[in-house]
Amino acid sequence: MVGEKFCDLHLHLGASVTPHFLWELAHQQGINTKEKNYFKFIKNFKIKKTTSDKYLKRIDKKNSSPFDISQKIQSSPEAVEKCVHYVISKQYRDYNVCQIEIRFNPLFRNRNGEFDVDKIIFSALSGMHRAMIDYPVKAGLILETDRQFSYEKHKIIFEKAVKYKKLGIVGVDVSGPNPSSGFSIDMFIELFSFVKKQGLKTTFHTGEFTSVEEVWQVIEKIKPDRIGHGIASINDKELMKEIAKRKIVLEICPTSNIKTQVVSSWEKMGQIINIFIKNKVLFTINSDGPEFFGMSIKDEFKNLLKRKIIDERKIKEIISFSFKASFI
Ligand SMILES: [Zn+2]
Repeated sequence: MVGEKFCDLHLHLGASVTPHFLWELAHQQGINTKEKNYFKFIKNFKIKKTTSDKYLKRIDKKNSSPFDISQKIQSSPEAVEKCVHYVISKQYRDYNVCQIEIRFNPLFRNRNGEFDVDKIIFSALSGMHRAMIDYPVKAGLILETDRQFSYEKHKIIFEKAVKYKKLGIVGVDVSGPNPSSGFSIDMFIELFSFVKKQGLKTTFHTGEFTSVEEVWQVIEKIKPDRIGHGIASINDKELMKEIAKRKIVLEICPTSNIKTQVVSSWEKMGQIINIFIKNKVLFTINSDGPEFFGMSIKDEFKNLLKRKIIDERKIKEIISFSFKASFI
C-alpha cells in the first residue's frame, strides 16, 4: 500500500496544522498564547480518547479548546494563507495525499469582523494555489458554517462560497455543536438549494453527535451530495437503503470517531464499516484532522488493514472511489 496515492475529503483546517507551526505562527503575529511553556502548549493539541463533544467543540468561556486556540491563531489573512499552504504541502510530502479538500469557517477566522471575510477567503485560496504550484496536488476548499450561527451568518458564508467558486471553493458544509435553541434543519433548505443551483457541491455534518432522525431530515430536506460522518445511520436499515439509493456518500473518519467516543471501540468501528459495505452505502475514509487526531489518511488505512477491518482489495477500492467522490 505504501506509495499509493491518497485522497482526503474531510479535514478541518483548524485540526490539520501541527502544534509547533501554530506556536510559531502565534509568535510571528504577536498573539498571546496564554500558555507560555512550549511543551505544555503543544500537549494541548493531542486529542485524547474519551474526549466528548463538549471538550472538542464546546464554546465554554473558561477554557479554550484546542480548536478555539487554533482558530484564533489562524485568524488573519497571512495566517490562513500559510496554514492552507502548510496543510496541503505537508500532507503531500509526508503521506502522498494527492487530492485534498480542506474545510474551514471563514467567520471563525476574521477576529469577529476585524478582518474582511473576503480577504480571509481569498488568502486561503491563495495559499491553496501556491501549494498546487509547489506540489503536484489537486486541492479545493469547502466553506463551513456553524450550527450555532444565525441564519444571517449562514447566508453570508454560502454567498461567499458562490462568489469564490471559480477560484477554488468547491462546496459548503455545516458543522459544530448544536446550540441550546434556535437550530433547525429547515434553516438550510433554501440556502442549500441556492448553492446547488450555482454549481457548488454540498456536505453536512450529521449522525456524528446527532440522531438518526436528524440524518433522515438532512437527506429528505437538504439532499446533500455527501454527509460528514453519518455513523448514526447504522441503526436504521431503511435509512441506509435510502442513502444508498440516493448515492449520498458518507465521509467516515474512524480515528476521530473513536477519540471522540462517537464509536466506543475499534471492534464496533469494524462492524459499522462492514454493515455499510453490506448495505451498499457509499463511503470514503478520511482523517477529520490529521494533526489533532494524530492519524493521517495513509495511517488510517494501514490501521484498518492491521485491525483486519477491511482487506487490501477493499482499501484500493475505497481510495479510488474517494477520488471520484471528490468535489474538485
Ligand atoms: Zn468534521
